[in-house]
Amino acid sequence: MSFMSFASEMLGNLFKPPATSQYPFKPRKVYEADRGKVINNIDNCIFCGMCMRNCPSDAITVDRNARTWKINRFACVQCKECVTNCPKKCLSMDTEYTAPATEKTEEVLQGPPPPPKPQLVLTEAQKAAIAAAQAKKAAAQKAAAEAGQAKA
Ligand code: SF4
Ligand code: SF4
Repeated sequence: MSFMSFASEMLGNLFKPPATSQYPFKPRKVYEADRGKVINNIDNCIFCGMCMRNCPSDAITVDRNARTWKINRFACVQCKECVTNCPKKCLSMDTEYTAPATEKTEEVLQGPPPPPKPQLVLTEAQKAAIAAAQAKKAAAQKAAAEAGQAKA
């Protein structure tokens, strides 16, 4: 860098505002694509575990039976793999970062109870068809048993 360009850069910087901001006294600028902490809309989670299997830092633990989703935010590297691979699109990335803490705690989200299984309601015709099929099967088994006894 020549002396003239150096001097002009130096003089210019004397009159420019500082490039850094007085964080945390002045809020930082937030961008739409910022990758902050991972958020789970737990009501839509199906506990499939895809996020857990795709997390490179083992920050997520999913328990399908207990219907819990757990994250160690201090292990998360904000790669967004869990968000990309969630089939229910219930994960997203907040623009805010995890707050500093003195202890590395984990956050556990409890999902709602599973929806009741639909009851199978048969029509009278279907019930009759099932009964007929069962009777036919029983008759065939009886005939086979009698044929076996006759041979013996
Ligand atoms: S991938 Fe999505 S739906 Fe599956 S367990 Fe993770 S958060 Fe829930
Ligand atoms: S953003 Fe990356 S590191 Fe963080 S929980 Fe998701 S997959 Fe794991």
